Amino acid sequence: MKKSVKELHAVRAKMWDASMSRHEHYIDKSTGVFSNKFTEKRPCPVCTNNTPAFMFNKEGGTYVKCSSCNMVYLNPVFTAEELTKYYQSNYSVESEIVETDDDDFYSTIYNQGLDSVLKEAQSFTSVLDIGCSSGAFLDLAAKRGLKTIGIELNESEFRLAERKGHETYNDSLENIDFKQKIDIVCMWDVFEHIKNGEVCLNTIKNILSKNGRIFLQIPSSDALAAKMLGAKCNMFDGIEHVNLYGIETIKKMASKCGLKIESMKTVISEVGVINNYLNYEDPYLGDTKNQSSVLGLIDDKSIHKNLLGYKLQVILKR
Ligand SMILES: [Zn+2]
Repeated sequence: MKKSVKELHAVRAKMWDASMSRHEHYIDKSTGVFSNKFTEKRPCPVCTNNTPAFMFNKEGGTYVKCSSCNMVYLNPVFTAEELTKYYQSNYSVESEIVETDDDDFYSTIYNQGLDSVLKEAQSFTSVLDIGCSSGAFLDLAAKRGLKTIGIELNESEFRLAERKGHETYNDSLENIDFKQKIDIVCMWDVFEHIKNGEVCLNTIKNILSKNGRIFLQIPSSDALAAKMLGAKCNMFDGIEHVNLYGIETIKKMASKCGLKIESMKTVISEVGVINNYLNYEDPYLGDTKNQSSVLGLIDDKSIHKNLLGYKLQVILKR
């Protein structure tokens, strides 16, 4: 049975509630934000400036904006140790959604991502998906004849991907000794979870073939939906999305790591979500009829033309 986008949002809303009830455990009742037992302060992850401007609290977390480069990030942020514990106890329902992708919502996005990377170099033979979950993206990559490698820290998801025949690792990237350099390294909705993006990109550079490409899909803090909904936007979850890059800050991070942006585009306009919100309804569960444009002014096409979609897809090269 096909799931409508609204039904998908309803499933996500349940997941959200379950996940947010887990936040309670960490919240200091006297302040309403996470207890400093679990967190640490940090400078801007892009420019290292230390003068953040408070944006809002969300589900116990505090989002700030760097007053120098405009990077949006969680500060304070969970310590590495607490984050690891949090993820280990976190059962991912997202992988179930991707596996029962009746609308082909994900496979369409995955295929388009592959198209854009492969367009650049037809000779690519291997792909690594960091945070591959149960391997849905690698399945599509394998169909195109690519050698598929996955990294997944969640053990049950790792087993699923492994059983499908992908070369799969249940370990951190820096601990894995790859036999060969890899042509395409992908991170779908993963990079925003990583506190030190610079270390991450540099580690990837070391395993990338000379002409290789890095593909990132990240939620964009420049998205129209994020800017209009502010704290109400589900991009801001309080714990997991530690770094929310925008157009300029992802460019800055790339250049810091000696990488060039080859292409950049946005996907998922969220016109429906914005319309619900502008009609005083729940942005994710509302039922606004006009889904084709925002107030008759901005449609899908103009949103993506101006890189204002919900997610940014970035291809990086040396
Ligand atoms: Zn900054």
